Amino acid sequence: HLHALHELRGCPSVTRDGYRIDIHANIGHVEDVQQVLDNDADGIGLLRTEFLYLGNNMDCSEEGQFQAYKKVLEKMQGKRVVIRTLDVSEEPEISQWRYGDRVNPAMGFRAIRFSLRRPDLFLTQLRAILRASVYGKAAVLFPVVTSEEEVIKAKALLQQARASLEAEGVPVADKIEIGIMIETPAAVILSDRLASMVDFFSIGTNDLTQYILATDRMNDSIASLYNPRHPAVLRMIDMTVANAKKHGIWTSICGESAADAELLRFYLAMGVEELSVAPSSVLELRRIVRQTTLGKYKDRIIQKYCNG
Ligand code: PEP
Ligand code: MG
Repeated sequence: HLHALHELRGCPSVTRDGYRIDIHANIGHVEDVQQVLDNDADGIGLLRTEFLYLGNNMDCSEEGQFQAYKKVLEKMQGKRVVIRTLDVSEEPEISQWRYGDRVNPAMGFRAIRFSLRRPDLFLTQLRAILRASVYGKAAVLFPVVTSEEEVIKAKALLQQARASLEAEGVPVADKIEIGIMIETPAAVILSDRLASMVDFFSIGTNDLTQYILATDRMNDSIASLYNPRHPAVLRMIDMTVANAKKHGIWTSICGESAADAELLRFYLAMGVEELSVAPSSVLELRRIVRQTTLGKYKDRIIQKYCNG
């Protein structure tokens, strides 16, 4: 089976009736890039950067981060690499960042909330990303967005980082795409407005599912309720993609459900053009895409899940 899958390297991911879908990979370490290349992903749809802050012997200084991003971008040889800014929650390991014990850390002081309140750390990361941007095709992605205000502030800090580098004469790519994770119900509901502020959406179904269904993704005793196939989740994704399309921006799905063979037809029917999955799932997903026919079932699929 693996052998057969490897024969799909170099083949496009198109449905039988010609819909092309880009399959990117999610990674959380620099070393994972080799797996991305081995599995012939179209790019990196999600580079989680927590490893720089939490990993043993990792260097989260501007230079340390710059070196890490540069390495990934160079290895990807011009294929897009979406670098997500820090999404730590109140990790006990980072004692100096600890915000106290909370019962709902997933709803706590994390991600863009953390970055906006620590502009020193955020600017360091943004400068590292911008410096690395000349070594490939970088995009930047802000996690756990819930408001327009957060996007305005994050973009202003990105602009500030760019201006400081330019003033120092440090080269930066002219244009890097800016995206936000759509992983809170608030972001979905505001997606018509948020879409006019960014270049792309990345739907994080891991968190989105837990917030929509009020079901902790880490709690085994309610695992059966944690269901990315739930019609409420699918409707929210449909809404997001529709709003993105209205504003002419692209949408990727990067939660684990992006690799769900059952959900693929729904996602494609909604108009999702990009999925980002674990490197080891890329070729299997490509195989399934190539066996799928959307065609005249497009509308029917949409109707089916919206009613049921
Ligand atoms: C998600 O929430 O779907 C996601 C991709 O981000 P993470 O799993 O890192 O929270
Ligand atoms: Mg998330």
